[in-house]
Amino acid sequence: MPEQPVAAPVSLGTVEFTQLRPRVYLAVAQPAAVNIGLVTGDDGCLLIDAGPGPSQGAELRAAAEALAGTPLRAVVVTHGHWDHAFGLSAFADVETIGHEDSVSALRGPEALAAAAAAGLDLATLPAPATRLASIGLRDLGGVVVELAHFGRAHTRGDLIAAVPGAEVVFAGDVAETAGPPQFDSESSLEGWAKALDALAGLLRPGSLVVPGHGPVADSDEVGRQRVALAVCWGQAEWAFWQGLTEDEAYGHSTLEWPWDEATTRRGIASAYAGLRGRGVKPKRHLPVLGPPL
Ligand SMILES: [Zn+2]
Repeated sequence: MPEQPVAAPVSLGTVEFTQLRPRVYLAVAQPAAVNIGLVTGDDGCLLIDAGPGPSQGAELRAAAEALAGTPLRAVVVTHGHWDHAFGLSAFADVETIGHEDSVSALRGPEALAAAAAAGLDLATLPAPATRLASIGLRDLGGVVVELAHFGRAHTRGDLIAAVPGAEVVFAGDVAETAGPPQFDSESSLEGWAKALDALAGLLRPGSLVVPGHGPVADSDEVGRQRVALAVCWGQAEWAFWQGLTEDEAYGHSTLEWPWDEATTRRGIASAYAGLRGRGVKPKRHLPVLGPPL
């Protein structure tokens, strides 16, 4: 979630991890209420997301190692937004993992504004050192963490972290239960629906999905979010093909949109930008039969 800069870094105080499944824990890092994952193995532990700043990252690490009783082996950032990745400087001596395209968000104008608002120098905040192109796996001893990139969705560089056996999937902001999906300049409405399709393929009955923000979800909730994204994408694509402007698409009498106006307009803008970026031209000669869904 939030792409808005914070006013100032806020100490976590005492980090509290709660257990989701054997070897899998969850904490919430303020001020943006980011869900932080912890997976504990016999040989070490792994954090999922680094928190919103250096001090929060250090507190998360201390709490994680105290709970696990084993050294931290790695930290994975689900994407390059400040609230998930600005804590990376607390992990200089362990493996830091992200997608290879996560760096653009971590170095982009929104990150610069967030760092300035928090009194941080963006140039001193590290990016993940290990950068995955598609998939990865870390064996912690008795438990593994599988990492996967399902294409451009919330950002260009989203990573999903799954713990098979425990049936927990940490989705980062590809899934969101604190509010509607958060679009910014890197988001792809088209890709996002596809990414949730792929994520759904990891789930079994009883699987838990930890979103970037908000309560833990189940496969039904992921399905609802996938449908909302797919409906918005399908309708926006149809409107584009008809030659409608973004305003005309939003106001079209036969279209119903799944979110509030601001979110929907950002979704439509993402769809139109993606189609224009591919050089797609409207086909005004198509018969107007109504939306495809
Ligand atoms: Zn985000």
